[in-house]
Amino acid sequence: MIQRTLEQIAVMLGSEVSGGAGAAQVTGVSTDTRSIQASSLFVPLIGENFDGHSYVQEAYAKGASAILWQDNHGAAPIGIPHIRVADTLTALQQLAKAYCKQLPVRIIGITGSNGKTTTKDLVAAVLGSTYEVHKTKGNLNNHIGLPLTLLQLEETTQFAVVEMGMSGRGEIELLSDLAEPEAAIITMIGESHLLQLGSRDEIARAKAEIASGMPKDGLLIYNGDEPLIEQALAERGLGANEEQAEVEGLRRIRFGSGAGNDLFPTDIRMDADGAYFQINSPGYPELFIPLLGTHNVINALAAIAIGETFGVAPIAIAAGLRSLQMTSMRIEKLTAASGLTVLNDAYNASPASMRAAIALTEQLGGFGRKFLVLGDMLELGEHEEQFHRDIGAMIASERVDYVFTFGRLGRFIADEAEARFPQGHVRAFDEKDQLAAELAALAQKDDLVLVKGSRGMRLEQVVQALLA
Ligand code: ATP
Ligand code: MG
Repeated sequence: MIQRTLEQIAVMLGSEVSGGAGAAQVTGVSTDTRSIQASSLFVPLIGENFDGHSYVQEAYAKGASAILWQDNHGAAPIGIPHIRVADTLTALQQLAKAYCKQLPVRIIGITGSNGKTTTKDLVAAVLGSTYEVHKTKGNLNNHIGLPLTLLQLEETTQFAVVEMGMSGRGEIELLSDLAEPEAAIITMIGESHLLQLGSRDEIARAKAEIASGMPKDGLLIYNGDEPLIEQALAERGLGANEEQAEVEGLRRIRFGSGAGNDLFPTDIRMDADGAYFQINSPGYPELFIPLLGTHNVINALAAIAIGETFGVAPIAIAAGLRSLQMTSMRIEKLTAASGLTVLNDAYNASPASMRAAIALTEQLGGFGRKFLVLGDMLELGEHEEQFHRDIGAMIASERVDYVFTFGRLGRFIADEAEARFPQGHVRAFDEKDQLAAELAALAQKDDLVLVKGSRGMRLEQVVQALLA
C-alpha cells in the first residue's frame, strides 16, 4: 500500500501540511475508524447519514498519522497533523490517481452488468501465474472503493485488476478517468439498473464509458454476442469500422459464445466441480475452471484474452484458471446433512444472472429431482412483470421438477410456467417460512435445489432452513 511522508502526500494533493509532522510516514489510507491501521492517513468522508469529520479524534487515538480536513468544516482539531482540502472525496480520488502515476503498474478495468467480480478473479488468476498482481478486494468497485483499491497497490505490483461498478450514467467515466486502464473488459449487458437508466441501450452506453480514461492505443475486450456494446462504442467514435479503428488505434478483442467472435468456446462440458472447455485459439490444452455455468466459461474467455495480450503462455493461463481463488462463491454449492445439494445464489438476481443460474441447474446431471426457488428480481422498472414472465417461460419442464417462487413479482414467474408442469409442481408463496417448510418436506437426498433472488428478498433464509 501507499507509503509516503505526509509532506509528499500534501504535494500530491496540491496542499500543505498543518499541525507539524510533515516528515511523518503515512502507511495506507483509511476512511473507516472501525478498521483503521496505525500510521494511516484518515480521510473523513461525508455521507448521507454521517460525517467522517466527527471521527477524526478517534482515528488519531487509534494511531492515524494524520487526517484530511475539508475546508468548509472550520478549524481542524488542534494537535492533529492534517492536510486541508476543498473536498475530502475528491482528494481521495486525486491522491489515488497521483499515486498510480508514480508506479509502474499496468491497470485493467472491468465493468459489465453481471460477472465483474468473477471476471476480476479470473483475470487475476491468469495474470497471477506470471506476474505480481493486485485485485479489488471484495466488491470495492465504486467512487470510494476504487481509489482505496489503488492506494493499496505496492511499488512492486505489476498489474492491478480493478472492478468498476455503477448505478447511473457518468459513474464509469469517473472511475475510468481515475484509473486510466490500459486494458478494459465489458463482460455483458444485462438489465441491472434498468430502473435508473431506462433502457438496455442506455446501460450499454454507461458501460462503454470505460473507454473514457483509456489511452488511444488501449485494449478493449468486450462481449461480442451483445450488439449494444458495439453500438455504444460506435457512438463514442470507437466503432469496429476499419477507418475509425485506425484513427483511434484502439485494439479490440471480442469474446462470446458465438463463432463470429475473436475468442469463443468450441466445446464445453460441465460436472459438479466446474466447467471443462476448449477454445478456438491454437495451443491450448483442455481448460478447466472451478466454476459452474456456461456464463462463467464466457467470463473466462475475457481473462484468456488478457493473458494472451500480456504474454502469459497458454499452459500458464490454463494453470491460472484451474487454481482460481474466488472473492466469494456467488453460486455456492452446499450439501445438507441429508445429502440434498443446494445451489446458493441468493446473493442477488437480475434477469441475465437468473437465466444463467436456471440454465446451469437444468444442465447439471447426476441428481434426483430438481427444484428452483426463485424470488423477486428488484429494481427493473416499468417492465418488471414482463421480465419475470420471461423467466417463467424459459424454464424447461423436462429438466426441472418443481418451481417455488417467493414474492409479488415471483408470482409472474409461476404464472407463466404453471401450464407446462404437473398440478402442484409450480407454486407461488408469500411467506418464506411456509416455502421453506414445504420445500424441506419434499426435497430429499440426491435432489438439487437452486435458490436465487434479489438481495432484498433475503432468500439465504431458505438456504439456512434447508441446511438445518
Ligand atoms: P455486482 O454488481 O453485485 O458487483 P458482479 O458484476 O460483480 O456483481 P458477480 O459477482 O461476478 O457479478 O456475479 C453476480 C451474479 O451474476 C452471479 O449470480 C453470477 O452467477 C451471475 N453471472 C456472472 N457472470 C455472468 C454472465 N457473464 N452472464 C450472466 N450472469 C452472470
Ligand atoms: Mg461485483
